[in-house]
Amino acid sequence: MPSDLLMNILTRIREVAAYKSFPDWYINELCGHDNRWSSDICAKVTDPDNPTKKTWQSFKIVRAWHRLPNNRWIFGGGWRHHPNVTLSMMESHAIEMSFKCWIMGIPHGGAKGGIAFDPRMYSREDLITITCKAVEKAIKHNCLGPKYDRWAPDVGTNEEIMQWIQDHYSYVAEPVTCVTGKPIDFGGMPGRKEATGRGLHEALRIFRNENVITLPECPTAILQGFGNVGYHYAKFCREFGIKIIGVLDQYGGVYHPHLPIADLITYVDNHPQKTVAGFHTICGGDEIKNDKELFSISADIVVPAALEEVITPEIALLFNNVKVLLEGANGPTMPGADPILADRGIEVIPDIYANAGGVLVSYFEWHKDTNLQPFDRLLHPPKESDEDLVFESMQNALSRNGRAIINLKRTIESQTGKRIDNRLASYIYAMERALPAYMVKRREQF
Ligand code: GLU
Repeated sequence: MPSDLLMNILTRIREVAAYKSFPDWYINELCGHDNRWSSDICAKVTDPDNPTKKTWQSFKIVRAWHRLPNNRWIFGGGWRHHPNVTLSMMESHAIEMSFKCWIMGIPHGGAKGGIAFDPRMYSREDLITITCKAVEKAIKHNCLGPKYDRWAPDVGTNEEIMQWIQDHYSYVAEPVTCVTGKPIDFGGMPGRKEATGRGLHEALRIFRNENVITLPECPTAILQGFGNVGYHYAKFCREFGIKIIGVLDQYGGVYHPHLPIADLITYVDNHPQKTVAGFHTICGGDEIKNDKELFSISADIVVPAALEEVITPEIALLFNNVKVLLEGANGPTMPGADPILADRGIEVIPDIYANAGGVLVSYFEWHKDTNLQPFDRLLHPPKESDEDLVFESMQNALSRNGRAIINLKRTIESQTGKRIDNRLASYIYAMERALPAYMVKRREQF
């Protein structure tokens, strides 16, 4: 049964007060939103009951904006195409986006939104029509643009869709940047597509180097989701010495103790639905049909890289010899699962830190386009649009802020005598980072 994602994140923010004293007004600010928007668009697209006909259909679009600690910053965050898009869910993801940005020193308030529909049911032509209608509505209601809000790829969207949004915005409103995650030939940043998946590896490496997590030399991993995040996580596994043994996506999955990842990637590239389903017949492995089967596999690392709330308390109890949960998706773990993971000695590298590589490289692209400066003097966007330089800047930011989270956790534990998890430490770190800007904005005295 799905829980209330927004309620969960608000509870986590309030929990922070037991370990770190923040002004009440600040906690209250963070538990609210700056703005929220919901609208319906009508588009003439393929009739699901008669594919030869076009009919007018209605689609719900939403966007939620969390908080802007400094009036010179802007909002930013993913734009998704998925049937489960609701305002409440986007409100919760907008808060996560804020925290991700603040951990990294990015001058944004978090936002998230999208269109509630299943893009797999529509043709490319229909997708263009629906996306452009949403852009027109967003322009009409001042919900998009470089002075207010930057959209980025998310679940069900990609660089091509970002370019449609950019192009239509330029045509209808003004020819200036309004999205990140654009194709490289249209002003995108090399490495943006790979950034979230690669960033997960960097995040784990830092937690290993700082001795928070002990893993064998060549640890095994199971992966849920093979969209942009999961695909690129898998692609970099070899370089980071990780051995993936099980993968599941929305259509099916595969287990093999020696899963040939390069062959799996070629298989997915050539599959019309871009799925791993059916690969077990090619590699001689076992078929994985559902979450329970995947998460019961004995492995050192579990990587949820799909949707929210998949790690339920029941699933956390199934984990078999797992040492670390590396959160590639946003909000993949239900609050009820956290104490179970802690009791079982499983370290969690939380989403707001672990998957921040994506927004970081989005911000590098935005910095190139607009020159909006980071609020952290030590965050250095790459000097050129070069993939190696992008990865180097990303690695610096992830390692510096990862170490800061680990040190903060150790300090709080020694001061309070209580154990806190990496998630809470990451929340506290994000909140500490944005507080000075907020105090100026509220004219509070330091
Ligand atoms: N989907 C990304 C996330 O959730 C979008 C971030 C961005 O590029 O702004 O982190």
